[in-house]
Amino acid sequence: MADYYNQYELKQFAATIAECMDFPLPESYAPSIGWAVNVLKERMGGAADRVVLYHADAVGLYIWQKYNNLFAPVYRHTSMSLPFVSTVESVTPVAHASMYTGLDPKDHGIETYVRPQLTCDTLYDRLIADGKKVAILAMTDSTFLHIFKGRELDYFELRNAAEIQEKALELIADDRYDVISIHTFEYDNAAHAFGPESKQALNAVSIEAEVFANIAKELKKFADKHRILLTYSPDHGQHLTEGFTGAHGSKMIEDMNILHFFGTF
Ligand SMILES: [Zn+2]
Repeated sequence: MADYYNQYELKQFAATIAECMDFPLPESYAPSIGWAVNVLKERMGGAADRVVLYHADAVGLYIWQKYNNLFAPVYRHTSMSLPFVSTVESVTPVAHASMYTGLDPKDHGIETYVRPQLTCDTLYDRLIADGKKVAILAMTDSTFLHIFKGRELDYFELRNAAEIQEKALELIADDRYDVISIHTFEYDNAAHAFGPESKQALNAVSIEAEVFANIAKELKKFADKHRILLTYSPDHGQHLTEGFTGAHGSKMIEDMNILHFFGTF
């Protein structure tokens, strides 16, 4: 059987999120997934004014295919999933740069595992210019803290997913931020060390799914006050190496196909 790559490109992520907020982006950004924007806005009863983007690093589509029950906490708080294909190379800085600039790697300039501060226009720059309050919560040495640094937004660097959850719940309860991006890589770390389907790695999928669910529960408390969009948005997958560890960066289907979930409250 042939390998089929997923339909949507990660560079469509920025415009899809922005249009859910009725926030137009310049034409340099790849187009949104228009039908999905329409459905999500219908469900919210208008444009989102609170957005939380949860990036669980390296969770591939086949993990969802083979261990679907691990995603029960994500299903509980979402109502749509969309099949995305990662970037070439399928590594975190390349993928997240495309997600937040709407550009192909050759155009944003990060084509391999390097982490310069992006100087081109990003979704964050657009949001900040419009007066939106933005926060990034990320684990220590996250790519987000390198490529998106130097902006007028609040950066929170935390050691693990548990600390991220605690800080995220606090920030959401304060109701100060329009957009919060969250980056955890418990699964990526465990999958690199023990293999993408090891019990340690699958346990990390569950840990991150629970963090996502707990964030969703806190957001739901504001459903009367705000129109809220929450996404579960991995950057790429991982494949098993001959040494029984995990790796990514290739065009293998395990590295390339990912699934994003969208919830509205
Ligand atoms: Zn990795």
